[in-house]
Amino acid sequence: MITWQTILDAKNISRSDCERFDQDDPLAEYRSQFSLPPGLIYLDGNSLGALPKSTPSRIQHVIEHEWGNRLIASWNESDWFHAQKRVGEKIAPLLGAEPNEVIVSDSTSVNLYKLLVSALLLQHARSENQRRVILSDTSNFPTDIYIAQSACRCVKNSEVVQVSPESLIDAINEETAVVFLSHVDFKSGALSDMSGITQAAHDAGALVLWDVAHSAGALELRFNEWNVDLAVGCGYKYLNGGPGAPSFIFAAERHLASLDQPLTGWFGHHAPFEFTYEFKPADGIERFQAGTPSILSLASLETAMDLWRTVSINDVRVKSLALSELMLKLTREMLHEFGVTTTTPTSAEKRGSHVALHHSEGFAIVQAAIAKGVIGDFRPPDLMRFGIAPLYVGYADTWDAVDTLRQVCKEECWNDPRFQTRSEVT
Ligand SMILES: *Cc1c(COP(=O)(O)O)cnc(C)c1O
Repeated sequence: MITWQTILDAKNISRSDCERFDQDDPLAEYRSQFSLPPGLIYLDGNSLGALPKSTPSRIQHVIEHEWGNRLIASWNESDWFHAQKRVGEKIAPLLGAEPNEVIVSDSTSVNLYKLLVSALLLQHARSENQRRVILSDTSNFPTDIYIAQSACRCVKNSEVVQVSPESLIDAINEETAVVFLSHVDFKSGALSDMSGITQAAHDAGALVLWDVAHSAGALELRFNEWNVDLAVGCGYKYLNGGPGAPSFIFAAERHLASLDQPLTGWFGHHAPFEFTYEFKPADGIERFQAGTPSILSLASLETAMDLWRTVSINDVRVKSLALSELMLKLTREMLHEFGVTTTTPTSAEKRGSHVALHHSEGFAIVQAAIAKGVIGDFRPPDLMRFGIAPLYVGYADTWDAVDTLRQVCKEECWNDPRFQTRSEVT
């Protein structure tokens, strides 16, 4: 199999070399399982994964048969009632978790709130209110920080502290309730040391909460081997669950019985259909459910997870790193003269699965590339992001993408006002 080392060692890589790499690719068969418009190079699977070909007919069946014909009977007949648990069980292998430790529900933002409040309450109780800090870094995704601040507004005496990624480990102390980080930096694509940081947090008596929005489905996670306490991830990025697909929660079995999540809706009740006024949480991971889920979104995510069943996540990681190595190498060779530089770590083990390039006209370059059929995105102040989803992105695609960026730079696209107009979503 082609590895990042193969790419790094190669002298000159031509487009025909890339076609040869595509022929040797053990994941090549998966591309035909996605519905992608011909001629489009889609490098934004880290924001919204592509559509599996099996999804539309599945959704149509849920709408026409389960909803249309069987109506409310489908809560039992099609087991809609346990769909969040069932889909969680299908995600668990990608996380290195047990099936009873993962559940799908709500959005990433909402799930972060549930877990952060649970972690603060647990640590308050264990430490006589000494452990009161949510410790994060200054490169975490903004919604993660907004939610942490909100959790602290609701749990007395708690506080969010953000430090630079480099000083994080030294900042963990006897006040730290929970170390809360994103596994992959959403801007630079830098990968954190989940195992090492988790160990350091535990040594200091803190819990960890990892946001794996940019790593679930991109690389192998070993939550139980690494003793991860809590985690949240995204259904619509590398997992391909569809726009707004629900998120998943991981809570290690050892903590489940002591986690008191704040959104105590009836789906998290021990016996919702007894309709009592006393809230008694479900024994297991089901306690993290809140209310009635979107069955259509769950069906879409479940169909995508059925596609993942046969995928080797090790192959995904090997190919992802080879492709990011290729993109970085070609960028140095073909784009450097136009002032494009690379922001993503050069050493493979420190990378997630997207490549971030830097140029002062980054916004216009991304827009012009989109107009030529290469989809990436932009993050301020001037980063161009290109996501690598190894199930449907190949080597020749990557070569063509960099070649397109080269044309765009050569044509000085930033002088064209069409490419300077900012829509609300970038
Ligand atoms: C994509 C992403 C989110 C998105 O949260 P939503 O609630 O789905 O909008 C949150 N955190 C990180 C780190 C992300 O990458």
